[in-house]
Amino acid sequence: MRPLDELIRPNIAALEPYSSARDEYKGKEAHVFLDANENPYDTGYNRYPDPLQRDLKEKICSIKGATPANLFLGNGSDEAIDLMFRVFCRPGIDNVVAMEPSYGMYKVCANVNDIEYRAVRTNAQFQPEIDAMLAAADANTKLMFFCSPNNPSGNLVERALLERALKEFQGIVIIDEAYIDFASEPSFVRQLDSYPNLVVLQTFSKAWGLAGIRLGMAFAQPEIINVMNKVKYPYNVNQLTQDRASAMLDDYQKIREWTESILKERARMETLVSALPYCTQVLPSDANFILARMPEATKIYNYLVDNGIIVRNRSRITLCQDSLRITIGTSQENDQLIECLKKYNL
Ligand SMILES: *Cc1c(COP(=O)(O)O)cnc(C)c1O
Repeated sequence: MRPLDELIRPNIAALEPYSSARDEYKGKEAHVFLDANENPYDTGYNRYPDPLQRDLKEKICSIKGATPANLFLGNGSDEAIDLMFRVFCRPGIDNVVAMEPSYGMYKVCANVNDIEYRAVRTNAQFQPEIDAMLAAADANTKLMFFCSPNNPSGNLVERALLERALKEFQGIVIIDEAYIDFASEPSFVRQLDSYPNLVVLQTFSKAWGLAGIRLGMAFAQPEIINVMNKVKYPYNVNQLTQDRASAMLDDYQKIREWTESILKERARMETLVSALPYCTQVLPSDANFILARMPEATKIYNYLVDNGIIVRNRSRITLCQDSLRITIGTSQENDQLIECLKKYNL
């Protein structure tokens, strides 16, 4: 990896961050707070939240096997993705390389930040072509994006391929693990000490059942986390979100039970969808959705909408012709979908 201060944008390296009232006072003993122009009357939320979310990070790290110094929390993973561009990529000059097809936000964030996006097609099994991705990189390539398990294909990226990227690419390697709780392989979070250029993204939006509170995680070496903290909005994770996430972490057993049920339902749905006469393929999934190929995908999508059932039509995405992405719901919801699909074209 190139030295971090060569990868970071010069204006960001030189940035003197905003110092909030809550940053300047870090002790715990005080009982009169007249430093932040807040309303003194207790609404439960009259105080600014902890800008570095220290208590919440402790709790998350006790489950994830990292230390709070390795963890950034943001307004969804989307904030962490956007920050990667703002921290590392000089608009109009730098570029990033990403596996394609994958999550659409990488490209949108690249465009917003005026960064060239070099998409490199995966093979037919949706495994990234590492040689082609490394060849697409040049001296101005700052980031390389992988998503594992991948959205929309649902497969894990082979570990050896990710390890090659981590060893051979000289910039930052981002592994988006939004769906890792549903996967049959462990997270890369445990590899942070081996790879200084690794950034792992996870989220509370999928297995944790909290898409509505907007909370995303980025795990990386402390030097990277520190720059992200310097650039983010001071109070980027609000108190309601911190409280709700904290309560969910106390109920970790519930998450495990939900995940177990979703995995059982996923196996059942793979069988049932494959058995539909017009379904030509269901891709093996390590996520909480399946990608199913059916030649009339767009017609079937519209038919489902007419029946009040919404899936995601991915037919226009690279390598995903004629395919619907189906989220695994409750067993009742899944049954409704199957009943409806069985009646298609009868
Ligand atoms: C759903 C999803 C996310 C989650 O984004 P949030 O902003 O945390 O809700 C991130 N990456 C991928 C690949 C996803 O599919």
